[in-house]
Amino acid sequence: MTEISKTSTDLKIINREQVINAYKKGEILSPVEVSERIHLSRQTVSKAIDYFVGKGLLESCGKGDSTSLGGRKPEQYRLSDKLLFLSINIEKHAIIFTLFNLLYEKVDTQTEPFGKNEQPTPNLVWNLLRSTAEQYRAKISLPYRVVGVTLTMRGLVNHDTGILQYSPFFTWWPRSIPVRRILQDIYPEVHCFSIDKPAQLVARSVYMNHEEEFADKRVVVFSQKGIIAGIIDHGKVLNGRNSLIGEFGHMVIDANSDKQCVCGNYGCALQMILPSTLKELAMKNAGSYPDSTLLSSDYSMPVIFQYSAGGDPLAAIVSEYLGRIFAAVYKNISVSFDPEALVLMGEIGKADQHFMDSFHRELSKFRYYPEEYDLPILFDERSEDEVLFTGSVESISRFYFNDVCAERL
Ligand SMILES: [Zn+2]
Repeated sequence: MTEISKTSTDLKIINREQVINAYKKGEILSPVEVSERIHLSRQTVSKAIDYFVGKGLLESCGKGDSTSLGGRKPEQYRLSDKLLFLSINIEKHAIIFTLFNLLYEKVDTQTEPFGKNEQPTPNLVWNLLRSTAEQYRAKISLPYRVVGVTLTMRGLVNHDTGILQYSPFFTWWPRSIPVRRILQDIYPEVHCFSIDKPAQLVARSVYMNHEEEFADKRVVVFSQKGIIAGIIDHGKVLNGRNSLIGEFGHMVIDANSDKQCVCGNYGCALQMILPSTLKELAMKNAGSYPDSTLLSSDYSMPVIFQYSAGGDPLAAIVSEYLGRIFAAVYKNISVSFDPEALVLMGEIGKADQHFMDSFHRELSKFRYYPEEYDLPILFDERSEDEVLFTGSVESISRFYFNDVCAERL
């Protein structure tokens, strides 16, 4: 008896998921059109649509054209724009709030800075979240309402437990802060939360963009200056027991280094690509290139790649050095995960030819790779903000839609 009821419940959830998926691109569809598209009976589709209308996810937008046989005009539906998600991105100097609807359209964005020369305490951050929540409550009135909150923070954030283990931005904060519980206190009217670190979101966002290509592959993603990265295994973004997977910046490259990283390790990859380290390298070689434009730059990776591509020989030396560091990181990943594709994005996605040549040269030295190691490398040119936003949108909406389909909300 329980087995039968369980099966029919599962089937109902699967059917609902299929129906709501048909609407996710924002199309206006009648039950008949959905029924034809997903090959479910019209009655099943109509039942699911009624359910979603009741939950506020779908709304009627009147009658469409009559059918070719001259039948009654069918009622049409679309995804509601009244339900909103709030994305909270806690950066080093500010919190960025973005409000968006189920169609992933941005409705409102605001930035709340922490103030100059201030070392924000956890309470300062939670109070900012609290006051912004009040502002939104005053601004948003029914039928509009916030149904999900997604929070992104650098450092070690455990997606499953919602606990911030450690933040490299706020090293003075205590360990193990229950961020999800705090958010639940601030937003008691919301029942769906997603807490993530950027590495997870970047990998999720990359997978969304290359879904068909990566569905049956092991993929590594490199992005941005801190080597924010991720591992996708046959469509699943790996997280690990302690959410450690993807923290490639803290891979120890030089165990004998006397420089301590913000994470506590010595000789992390992250330290080797810091602007201060790149400046040291440039200064060491500056004697031969006193006119290099790099010497008056900020030693950020995009600038180095730009100057290197433009023919600056000192910038080319630094770019080649970066190629060797990233090759070392990649080789270390490949002996534990052996990927089939690599995606470069963010700052590292703008790497020039000197970087790429140096990267490939380093890989070719490893004789455990096949003689012709043809690693497909893809460049994802979206901006950092866009990638993080898309990743967090995907994360919270997946939770929300799953919870609604399973009647948990
Ligand atoms: Zn480190």
